[in-house]
Amino acid sequence: MNNQVNYFVNPMHLFQKDADSKTELAQQTRSDNKQHLVTGFRKEWIELLFRFTIIKIAVKNYSNPWHWLAVPLALDKKRRKNIGEHRLYKLANVGKTYYWSLYTPGWSRNSASFKSFIASEMNRIVPIKGKTNRFTSAYVAITKKCSLQCEHCYEWDNLNQKETQSEDKIHQTIARLQEKGISQIHLSGGEPLLKVNLIADIVRKAQKGTDFWVLTSGFKLHNENAEKIKAAGVKGVMISLDHYLHEKHNMFRGFKDAYYWVETAVHNAIENDLTTALSICVTRDFVTQNNLMQYALLAKKMGVSFIQILEPRAVGHYKEKEVDLTEEQIQLLEKFYLEMNYSPKYKDFPLISYHGYYQRRMGCYGAGNRSLYVDSDGDLNACPFCQKKSGNILNDDFPTVLEELQTNGCQQFKGSTD
Ligand code: SF4
Repeated sequence: MNNQVNYFVNPMHLFQKDADSKTELAQQTRSDNKQHLVTGFRKEWIELLFRFTIIKIAVKNYSNPWHWLAVPLALDKKRRKNIGEHRLYKLANVGKTYYWSLYTPGWSRNSASFKSFIASEMNRIVPIKGKTNRFTSAYVAITKKCSLQCEHCYEWDNLNQKETQSEDKIHQTIARLQEKGISQIHLSGGEPLLKVNLIADIVRKAQKGTDFWVLTSGFKLHNENAEKIKAAGVKGVMISLDHYLHEKHNMFRGFKDAYYWVETAVHNAIENDLTTALSICVTRDFVTQNNLMQYALLAKKMGVSFIQILEPRAVGHYKEKEVDLTEEQIQLLEKFYLEMNYSPKYKDFPLISYHGYYQRRMGCYGAGNRSLYVDSDGDLNACPFCQKKSGNILNDDFPTVLEELQTNGCQQFKGSTD
């Protein structure tokens, strides 16, 4: 029996601890914070360099000098259309990379993924000669195995079933996405860290120009694994934390040490310079002003760069359940999102990513528009929450399946025409 199976059977194997070590760990995470938010003059300076890089990309890709300024300006206009006339007072900084948002590659002087992402967005405005990325991001499930029993799990029906995708097939899946061009790949599951060697192998063998993220419950993100995935080239980790209270998170995740795993994982991710996001599924019971604020305060203390807000959907473990938020709760979330990101009062809080805000205004970017989900059978779906299989990425003709995916569209929001 290999180690992975061992850990899966007995998750406690990895996390022998006592109450004192928990407190110590939380304090270390706060005091040794290696990723931070950049504000003030430094933020303005980075933004200037960022704009300069965009103009350089336009100069490189267009022969008509008119496009050198017109296309960057059109990009900026598009951004304003998305977020409104809001001014960002902070950037997330990890090592030499600066981030404006969670789902776009960060900027650094030599970031290939940032450059190809910008060129691809420019291509949507004025076509560029040569290859650009077809996708901004994809979620790829690399295992069906997981030790948890999460209340909202979208993979519930597949969880802990027999694997159908060999490691070789997963490598081929990544290669197929990269052939089309892709800025970010989010490796998910099940619990992807149960296959940590596969993660390292995927990232090492992948072509340059794609950022890899790992979506995890925090289970098995001990220091050795954080070091391993960082060394392989993983850019960031998204760690699920669904409540600021230990016992509520543990109950939501169906395991008594789930909160401790999150604390450990955040600490190890930050120590190893992995860009770190917390991801929360905001349930009806959770969405109050006080709970949102408590959560943001905890995320700030932990030192993460981002918080991702996901709304619950009636799929997987929530299938046929009444989980939709009320109109008032959606309004509260939108207000919270705007204040946290765009009010100078919260400039030292993590950046928030809230898909629902854009999806209600711009339509959905999933379903093969800019993003898609490859499930643990290698089948294409609009996103992890809109699960209507459109065909298999390896067994079927990819362009035909993509067309089908776009025709099926998002099951919740209208598709974006952008
Ligand atoms: S949501 Fe993720 S961590 Fe939770 S049971 Fe499902 S696959 Fe596992």
